[in-house]
Amino acid sequence: MSGEPLLKVKDLKKYFAVRGGVLSRIVDHVHAVDGVSLEVAQGETLGVVGESGCGKSTTGRCILRLIEPTSGEIWFQGQDVRQMGGEQLRALRRDMQIIFQDPYASLNPRLTVGGIIGEALQIHKLAKNNKEIEDRVVELLETVGLRPEYMHRFPHEFSGGQRQRIGIARALAVEPKLIVCDEPVSALDVSVQAQVINLLEDLQEKFGLTYLFIAHDLSVVEHISDRVAVMYLGRVVEIATAKDLYANPRHPYTEALLSAVPIPDPKAKRKRIVLQGDVPNPIRPPPGCHFHTRCPIAEARCAKDVPELKQTGQGHWVSCHLRS
Ligand code: SF4
Repeated sequence: MSGEPLLKVKDLKKYFAVRGGVLSRIVDHVHAVDGVSLEVAQGETLGVVGESGCGKSTTGRCILRLIEPTSGEIWFQGQDVRQMGGEQLRALRRDMQIIFQDPYASLNPRLTVGGIIGEALQIHKLAKNNKEIEDRVVELLETVGLRPEYMHRFPHEFSGGQRQRIGIARALAVEPKLIVCDEPVSALDVSVQAQVINLLEDLQEKFGLTYLFIAHDLSVVEHISDRVAVMYLGRVVEIATAKDLYANPRHPYTEALLSAVPIPDPKAKRKRIVLQGDVPNPIRPPPGCHFHTRCPIAEARCAKDVPELKQTGQGHWVSCHLRS
């Protein structure tokens, strides 16, 4: 990556307290994010992939300061996000937006579509009067492929794909620089997924947007991502360009995830790697390499020593004692 990245995350950790007993004391912590470092360049899409509970959504929410990290650094446009407050934080909330997985739950059912999109314009004082708000709502609806008259309808009157377009219009309303797309197509039918992904790609080109695209499925991020980070139990285990990661996965966990992705060529065969056991409890993650309890090639040292994320090729980083 050349030049200063738009977003830089260093050794980010988020531990959630677990309370118990009659006094509701802190008895343990869930290690949701356990030392994540990544960078995203201006105009780039970084895909973040991993099974449910690997910490990818928590990472996205920490970056947006929707939840406070336990430790680590977050830099956006060279500014320290963790030190921001007041007006600076308000400006950050405009520059960074989020699109949620469930477009229905994230849209206020009591507001019309015009009200939902217009609210963002009002909060950030981006329109002088009602006429300006209305004109901008119409423009945004057309930008995301919806009819202007939809502004008078309520969220429940739309399909899942249309609702996600409304969520995208709301995010675009404040002219953000970075959008965290948190599993934006997981709840949609496969045919609709492709439409929404194509729309996000068109918008990126048109407005020079940068995406952090979170998904649990490698096949979803393949098309849209420039680079992909694979997460397992709170840590990034591999990061590479999408092309390199798909053609030449290095980490055993990435290999297993990729083996489940269907190949378009029916003659080509890929051996399916089925991992044994479940993802361990993040309250007590395994010592050493978090993946050692399920890794098909684990050695004794894997249970003791934490593998560093090391560069193995041009822009290709892997955290594995045997593959770096
Ligand atoms: Fe497997 Fe060991 Fe590599 Fe972890 S460090 S992925 S357990 S070989």
